Amino acid sequence: MGERTQYDVVVIGGGVVGTAVLRTLSRYQLKAALLEKEAEVGWGATKANSGIVHAGFHNKPGSWMARLCVAGNRMYDQLCDELDVPFQRNGLMMVARTPEEEQILRRFYQQGLDNGVPGMELLDGDTARRLEPNLSGEITMVLRAASGGIVAPFALAHAQAENAAANGADVYTEVAVTGISCGDDGFTITSQDGGTWKAKYIVNAAGLFADDVARMCGLDVPSLIPRKGEEYILDQRVGDLVKHTIFPVPTPKSKGILVIPTVGGNIMIGPTALEMPRKDDLSTTAAGLDEILAFTQRLVPKIQRRDIIAAFAGLRAGSPTGDFIFETSHSGRAVHLLGIESPGLTASPAIAEHVAEMLAEAGLELMPKPDFNPRRPRVIRFKKLSDEEKEEVIKRDPLYAHVVCRCETVTEGEIVDAVRRGARTVDGVKFLTRAGMGRCQGGFCTPYVVRILARELGVSPLEITKRGRNTELLAAEAKAFLKGGEADA
Ligand SMILES: Cc1cc2nc3c(=O)[nH]c(=O)nc-3n(C[C@H](O)[C@H](O)[C@H](O)COP(=O)(O)OP(=O)(O)OC[C@H]3O[C@@H](n4cnc5c(N)ncnc54)[C@H](O)[C@@H]3O)c2cc1C
Repeated sequence: MGERTQYDVVVIGGGVVGTAVLRTLSRYQLKAALLEKEAEVGWGATKANSGIVHAGFHNKPGSWMARLCVAGNRMYDQLCDELDVPFQRNGLMMVARTPEEEQILRRFYQQGLDNGVPGMELLDGDTARRLEPNLSGEITMVLRAASGGIVAPFALAHAQAENAAANGADVYTEVAVTGISCGDDGFTITSQDGGTWKAKYIVNAAGLFADDVARMCGLDVPSLIPRKGEEYILDQRVGDLVKHTIFPVPTPKSKGILVIPTVGGNIMIGPTALEMPRKDDLSTTAAGLDEILAFTQRLVPKIQRRDIIAAFAGLRAGSPTGDFIFETSHSGRAVHLLGIESPGLTASPAIAEHVAEMLAEAGLELMPKPDFNPRRPRVIRFKKLSDEEKEEVIKRDPLYAHVVCRCETVTEGEIVDAVRRGARTVDGVKFLTRAGMGRCQGGFCTPYVVRILARELGVSPLEITKRGRNTELLAAEAKAFLKGGEADA
């Protein structure tokens, strides 16, 4: 791989933060690129989190987390409207079951007021149960924040990258940055497979690996603390158990174990919070599941083990200071984003604005691009259309008449659209379209998704992966089956 174009800014890491930074930079007359080590953007903590747009009452007044969480929350309506990403303000409830917990709730209420959180109220248990009839009868008081929401985080990262690219930015995937040097002409960034990129400024948005990338720039930073969170998804059959996201009072390590509605219509329960010695352990465990069930059944007793259809784990980039860390090197020309743990998803649009300000202070010229288009083409979500709209869509493109995922009613047209927007893997298609997210978890539709991906990308089905290098799904026998013939003997 040879040397690439000279860029004004290279962003390292394509999570929700890196893609937000890239999209923000694409508003200006400059050349920006993003380097992501995985096959698609969004595969880090961005894919494996609770999807909550926090209200902002959890964090200490004056902290980066508090300021950028509240600011980011406010930006979500416009952001998700422009990018056509699923987002709802379903509201949050933090619940108390004892007089001690009620005191804690009052403190968080005051903290929320200090942080400028709008639309909060303290409710007694019965009033809260009128809004959420499945809340436990033991709950005596609730702090409700109407501004809390839920979003599809992976779709958001993809949409930000797609929109940035449409506005002139370059997105490189399967590029793992392994070295950074700085000379008179700026930074030279090298990747695992020998590629080099030149940049005047860099933004290190490498999530849990941002400490490693900062060290490539010669910075002596404390190590980030990998903190695993297991989450479990319930069948859509019980998707209306609660409308609000339900929080207990927090623990010193996390916001506690929650009951979380999702924009896809499933309820999710979790996450655990366990410090890990390694940055790659994404296992789910029987102990984690037991802990989550015990906790969440105390909040919503109707939650049942048998309704669980899927599990996953994510790793937080635990901050050694307990707050987001904005570190710089090379006279501010390299910005390092460290410890972007929860509420990093919520704060990401505001983090991106802050990073642009930091780069401008270091000398980057931010001249608005007159033809910047904040919108991306709308996504057709077939299941959500009226019968008349469905007919109209099918008339324009018959691929929308072929339902590939029966559990979630996802059509071939939607899968093709996702591939054209950047999905390269079965999981990418799954997270963008929901194909494979239903009760059967892809048991029926995966071979069809593989076939469509191979056709659209012009490659052999054998090359189609679940989630990038070394996760190929098929053996030669299956290839023959997909071609409609017999396997070679
Ligand atoms: C279980 C869990 C639940 C959470 N729930 C919430 C929530 O409900 N609400 C909320 O606001 N926040 C939540 N968070 C936090 C939130 O997920 C993160 O703050 C956010 O996703 C961070 O985004 P990021 O872009 O910084 O990191 P990531 O999404 O991890 O992105 C970093 C990217 O950098 C890439 N990368 C790393 N090293 C290199 C390299 N050398 N070269 C190139 N690329 C590299 C990675 O592949 C990755 O794609 C949760 C986190 C977890 C783990």
